[in-house]
Amino acid sequence: MGTSTSWMARAACRDLPPETFFPEDGGGVEAARRICARCPVREDCLEYALSRHIAHGVWGGTSERGRQRLQAARRAAAEAQPAV
Ligand code: SF4
Repeated sequence: MGTSTSWMARAACRDLPPETFFPEDGGGVEAARRICARCPVREDCLEYALSRHIAHGVWGGTSERGRQRLQAARRAAAEAQPAV
């Protein structure tokens, strides 16, 4: 989970210019996210980015800020788990 790269061969963006996924503005982020929305390996891509703490770019349909929010929500959920 998160570290294998075999999913990249099935990525919807594999033939697109990388700069599409490193946009400078919100409009660019939305364009990238639309491509991610129909990508069959979106979950793998997102987990890859999260596991490697990749800060920049759109991965798995999330922006940098979106991944920060997701990480914070996961941390909060983990902390809310009762200690066993
Ligand atoms: S989710 Fe988006 S960035 Fe990730 S592989 Fe698919 S199209 Fe590319």
